[in-house]
Amino acid sequence: MTLASPDSLTGTPSAIPMLHGIMKEAETQPKRDAKPSLIGMNRDEIGIALRGIGLEDRQIRMRTAQLWHWMYLRGASSFDQMTNVSKDMRVQLEQHFAIGRPEIVTEQVSVDGTRKWLLRFPPRGAGRPVEVETVYIPEEGRGTLCVSSQVGCTLTCSFCHTGTQKLVRNLTAEEIVGQIMVARDRLGDFPLATSTDPKAAVPSEGRLVSNIVMMGMGEPLLNFEAVRDALQVAMDGDGLSLSRRRITLSTSGVVPMIPRAGAEIGTLLAISLHAVRDDLRDELVPLNRRYKIAELMDACREYPGLSNARRITFEYVMLAGVNDSVADARELVRLLKGIPAKINLIPFNPWPGSQYECSDWDTIETFAEVVNRAGYASPIRTPRGRDILAACGQLKSASEKMRATERLALAAMVGGNGED
Ligand code: SAH
Ligand code: SF4
Repeated sequence: MTLASPDSLTGTPSAIPMLHGIMKEAETQPKRDAKPSLIGMNRDEIGIALRGIGLEDRQIRMRTAQLWHWMYLRGASSFDQMTNVSKDMRVQLEQHFAIGRPEIVTEQVSVDGTRKWLLRFPPRGAGRPVEVETVYIPEEGRGTLCVSSQVGCTLTCSFCHTGTQKLVRNLTAEEIVGQIMVARDRLGDFPLATSTDPKAAVPSEGRLVSNIVMMGMGEPLLNFEAVRDALQVAMDGDGLSLSRRRITLSTSGVVPMIPRAGAEIGTLLAISLHAVRDDLRDELVPLNRRYKIAELMDACREYPGLSNARRITFEYVMLAGVNDSVADARELVRLLKGIPAKINLIPFNPWPGSQYECSDWDTIETFAEVVNRAGYASPIRTPRGRDILAACGQLKSASEKMRATERLALAAMVGGNGED
């Protein structure tokens, strides 16, 4: 599968100039309006919204299905496009609701094909507009979208760049779904976007965005309702249609919310473990001071539907001389006993001011071997999109802008040119 070139992408604001691999926001980008958006609502909520503008009960189901089809299968971003909805109805919808996209501030494409979007969302209440990053990672046979759940993060993990950015606010369900909509727009990935046949069958395969990971900015289980509602929209089989087995929710270990995630969302689970002893984990993932490793492991054992085909992923960032010894690897194996698990070893991605270094390759391989010999898959995650600062833990949006010096330092570390 090849990516559509940006110029041939459908349904996007026209002519966003490309500068040094970075697309800049068009000067003429339309102003957002304050009408409620139907994106991110479930069918019941859309029904209530339609009743609110006077639609009769007998029409609501049909209209909701139509809207759902246009929004999530055809990628409509205006009511005008909905050719099988009467003109009067379209005008009425347009007066009361929005189905637009977040503003794309920049779009960057890495040499390895990874794409990163900086998206701007309007203020909520008295706040200011906020910006978050969403990353698309194409791989052989699949494409993964790394979605943000919060602007910033409260949890200050010591190795994570996002953790240095104060929590600005939670994202809404609309804003979380909006990230998927932007990716599908920009990649030309809505299954029926180009079809003119109102009865066209929906291809079940072949999406460029085939997987979602809630591993962008923020801690998804500290924004539970919005993440749940958004993922339910994403999993709807007549819409975005991402299977629950292709969505992974990553948490740093908000133990009391893990059972709810299992019951109310039911996607795959990833745990950012990173240390096998409480004293070290207290330091790396300060949330561990509240919920200890043993409690976290218990919550994992209870996660519904675990089997060899549905394993929990344990993420483990490789920090030189900190958590990467053979003894650590053995303890990891002991901790995971009885949990269908795979271990994702993540080479540490540096950022300016970070106090760690990435373990060297031999150390990572030795660690992987110990885990592997115990029967656990332990892939080493290849860093992707480092040249555009899209790799794990490097996301930090311009809601708290990096100073130019900081940006240049980061670019020098990862081999990019630091321009924006
Ligand atoms: N807050 C959630 C999800 C977002 S972080 C969580 O912590 O799980 C996504 C993953 O990137 C986590 O496993 C996180 O620990 C890891 N990560 C953060 N900073 C990193 C860095 N500098 N290098 C490599 N991985 C990092
Ligand atoms: Fe927040 Fe996850 Fe980063 Fe920790 S690793 S600071 S929980 S985003």
